[in-house]
Amino acid sequence: MTQARYFQHGDIAVITMENPPVNGLGFELRKGIVDGLRRAQAEASVKAIVLTGAGKAFSGGADIREFNTPSALAEPNLLTVIRELERSTKPVVAAIHSIAMGGGLELALGCHYRVAAPGAQIALPEVKLGLLPGAGGTQRLPRVVPLELALNMIVGGNPVKSEKFAGTDLFDEMIDGDLMEGAIAFARKVVAENRGLPKVRDRKVDYPDAEAFLQYARNTVAAVAPQFPAPRRCVDAVAAAALKPIDEGLKTEFSYLLELIQTPESQALRHAFFAERAASKIPDVPADTPVRPIETAAVIGAGTMGGGIAMNFVNAGIPVFLLETKQEALEKGLATIRRNYENSAKKGRMTAEAVEKRMAMVHPTLSYDDLKDADIVVEAVFEDMNVKKVVFQTLDKMMKKGAILATNTSTLDVDQIAAFTRRPQDVIGTHFFSPANVMKLLEVVRGAKTAKDVLATTMALSKRIRKTGVVSGVCDGFIGNRMIAQYTRQAGFMLDEGATPAQVDRAVERFGFAMGPFRMSDLAGNDVGWYIRKRHYVENPEIKYSATADRICELGRFGQKTGAGWYRYEAGSRKAIPDPIVDELLARHREEIGAKPRKISDQEIVHRLVFALVNEGAQILDEGIALRASDIDLIYLTGYGFPLHRGGPMLYADMVGLYNVVGEMERFAANPMADPGFWKPAPLLARLAAENKGFNG
Ligand code: NAD
Repeated sequence: MTQARYFQHGDIAVITMENPPVNGLGFELRKGIVDGLRRAQAEASVKAIVLTGAGKAFSGGADIREFNTPSALAEPNLLTVIRELERSTKPVVAAIHSIAMGGGLELALGCHYRVAAPGAQIALPEVKLGLLPGAGGTQRLPRVVPLELALNMIVGGNPVKSEKFAGTDLFDEMIDGDLMEGAIAFARKVVAENRGLPKVRDRKVDYPDAEAFLQYARNTVAAVAPQFPAPRRCVDAVAAAALKPIDEGLKTEFSYLLELIQTPESQALRHAFFAERAASKIPDVPADTPVRPIETAAVIGAGTMGGGIAMNFVNAGIPVFLLETKQEALEKGLATIRRNYENSAKKGRMTAEAVEKRMAMVHPTLSYDDLKDADIVVEAVFEDMNVKKVVFQTLDKMMKKGAILATNTSTLDVDQIAAFTRRPQDVIGTHFFSPANVMKLLEVVRGAKTAKDVLATTMALSKRIRKTGVVSGVCDGFIGNRMIAQYTRQAGFMLDEGATPAQVDRAVERFGFAMGPFRMSDLAGNDVGWYIRKRHYVENPEIKYSATADRICELGRFGQKTGAGWYRYEAGSRKAIPDPIVDELLARHREEIGAKPRKISDQEIVHRLVFALVNEGAQILDEGIALRASDIDLIYLTGYGFPLHRGGPMLYADMVGLYNVVGEMERFAANPMADPGFWKPAPLLARLAAENKGFNG
């Protein structure tokens, strides 16, 4: 069935794109537009054509369902459709509303005229996928809007509201009332006034000394996003628009697109984009699973995490009860929340009035009676099973039927916590990351008995509070921390072998991590890992660790909060300064274990750390703790500072090639200092490597 409806209003043909949700320009729609255009040319009574979109968009651009399929390139492709629009012998008016993005905007730029409703989002967002607009966007936009504005839109990818284009030539008219009526009236005016068939391609970019301006833009882009080639190519393409004839410019643009599609950076960004969409799909929980209404929430514990979690609810308009055992702790928690909001107000991100409004939505209490009617309660008390037990037994007794009982535990067994209640089906893990009001990631931990609608509700809630929800099964550390434990162990072994914390951190940060393992540990508090290790020494005595981290902790060097850890810190500063005391401690330790220090290359450091993540990730995938490799990548991109341009550990391993990953792991295992078990490839990794496959297919 055609996706472009054709209708004639007297002497005006209206072609309406109909491919929900956003009229993505898939094959059927493209063909429908061309068919409609031809029909309008053939029909003598038609004097002009209006092109518009049904529903929630003019057009959102390419149909992402077609990505990586032959239909994406099938003729008529978008370039052909735009050529047909330009060649139409009758004027074509684009009637734009709601969304005109990417290919949707390029399509409109191929029309002879454009009218728009206010409030429409206009964008060329391809750069966010590491690409550039490949159907003339970089060539035509600078011909109708000032060069700086066009460049900002193409390099930044962000939407601009239609009314902001007043005074430019992008829109011939803004239409306040009924868009279709206005567009048809405009088309009739064009015909009556014989205004002809103007084409954007025939215009010139109007900017004196464009070359100097573009060189300045190139320098800026190189400084802001040095890892990404796309923004640079966007500038180059706009330079072609300014300096070359249009057909040469179009060719240049297309050649850059083909080049960018191949770059690992674009592959990484596209992977992250699709990972985000895939994460909300749970194979045995259909999208139409009914969700429980969430109108009020409660948080138990107003400490580091509880306060941030409460802010998330309030920011999404959900009032929240905040419970503590002591008035003092409650007040301290509230004061922190207020300080956070006031800091935002100071930075101009919210008004003083909004601060008060949000604070009024936090209801502090010492009594469970006040929160028993909440739809969801998130527990964020001390990480101690006995404390959690009392809290969950109380929640079970007090909370209304059907309330979701969530725990923010980072290391404890969610199934055991669920078993403290008589309603384990209502219990789920919501593992927020610190600072909870800032970090995007939310690991949603599905217990053995968690009900499907509880999972569906929590995943939907994660979107409402603007988090990236990723499902994890129950295991020690869930997906993210279970993997990071191997990475941290490996980082410790490198100290045993001769590396310094600064060398390891530098190598990993050059690879693109926001922070190396030792700076990260100093930030989070070295005592946190110590506490977990001590439990492991009892529960899993066979697991080998470098003893260096314990030695650091024994000196009370817990990191930034104590002014010293793997580095030293000057009062009030977060700058990590290498400390000779640590060097001495490491040297002594190496002597004690009889290690001969050697120089470890940056490449070895990075691959030992990343492949430690990959091997554990493979095991997690095989056990079904993670639903898909891209979920693991998403967790690392949104919660652990893994470099976005590398797409996450699993995609990185795919790009290196699993065969090569296993080969390197074998070389690492041959190191006489290596823990022999560490580098044994997980069965899934070994199998995929042997079959020449990747985690992502
Ligand atoms: P915290 O010590 O800062 O806060 C815990 C708060 O709970 C304190 O204010 C305490 O007074 C209160 N509390 C203790 N027992 C209580 C009870 N019975 N009833 C009500 N309140 C009680 O700890 P935190 O760092 O916020 O951690 C809370 C939970 O979140 C833990 O399970 C922890 O593992 C988890 N978590 C922490 C982080 C992190 O980075 N800090 C990250 C993810 C998850």
